[in-house]
Amino acid sequence: MIGRVRSSFTRVIGHEGAKSALRNALAAGRLAGALLVCGPEGAGRRTLVREVAKALNCRGGADAPLPCGACGPCGRIERGTAGDYVRVEPDGQSIGIAQVQGLLEEMALAPVEGGTRVFVVAPAGALTEEAQNALLKGLEEPPGRSVVVLVATREDELLPTVASRCRVVRLSELSTDEVVAVLAREGIDPAEAAERARWCAGSPGRALSDEALALARLASDAVEALASGAAYADPLGTVDRLAPQVGITKGEGGVDAQVKRARLGALLRAIGRTLRDALVHREGAARRRLSGASPELLARLAHAPAGRLEDAIDHLVRLEEELEQSVNPALVLEGMVLDVGASLASARAERTMTTVSGGRRGG
Ligand SMILES: [Zn+2]
Repeated sequence: MIGRVRSSFTRVIGHEGAKSALRNALAAGRLAGALLVCGPEGAGRRTLVREVAKALNCRGGADAPLPCGACGPCGRIERGTAGDYVRVEPDGQSIGIAQVQGLLEEMALAPVEGGTRVFVVAPAGALTEEAQNALLKGLEEPPGRSVVVLVATREDELLPTVASRCRVVRLSELSTDEVVAVLAREGIDPAEAAERARWCAGSPGRALSDEALALARLASDAVEALASGAAYADPLGTVDRLAPQVGITKGEGGVDAQVKRARLGALLRAIGRTLRDALVHREGAARRRLSGASPELLARLAHAPAGRLEDAIDHLVRLEEELEQSVNPALVLEGMVLDVGASLASARAERTMTTVSGGRRGG
């Protein structure tokens, strides 16, 4: 078992900290009865949980990785037909008390295949307060050989009484290279994988979605307009070019309001990541990049004098808040082009003057 644990979770790309914590717990035979797996949407939370369930039930040989992925229980969990892998999902908008009571009754039963029963509640943020309170008993004393896994974006989506009874496993965003590796495993060709991953906020799930390629083109276009000063020189032209890509059209029609908000939110976060990467680039810190920007683009942005990138990031944070507070997406997009464009463009203007005066001194 120990040898197998060492080569466990080979299917899960990235998330080394989380995998190592789970490996240690498995090796010691003391995986908590209640886990709370937190991380951004699309980061691979459900994949990791499925692999944990397989590891707890795998019947692979002594030399097989854990889980082996080939035995009966591994196959049934992968296909979603295993009696000991139970998923609880929202019935409509939320997960109510009746569903939790059903879960508690189910938990009292013995494992179907004699392994460990795994109950996955996702998204756990959908649990009503009443349902969370009902779940407490199950988390405190899960009956022998059962594990409850709550999947959430953040711990604070749950009542403190619930979160504190779980062993928390945190997943962070994947680097662009790790997202490309996940996509390649899904059979996507390398060039398309790279384009899909480029602006997908460290999220293989999002990179695999239908929106990924459209977002990649939109984000590339927007970041280039900001970095080149085009957004500052011609804000209206820039807005007119970006708006249809977000789904904002003049007059009636266009895409659903929620889709517009989601696209615009993804765009603001992609730009924010790029600017944060530019800050890291300037400081020469060895941190993995989170945006899809090329080193050449980051170097251009990193030339901004002190404070300008930070100003632009502040604008983006404010615009994201406005978007969440239901400000009209068209106004948020205009604000992005005008405010972020101005922050970065005044940086360019100052840089030009410095270069000119430096040149004069030199000449
Ligand atoms: Zn197996």
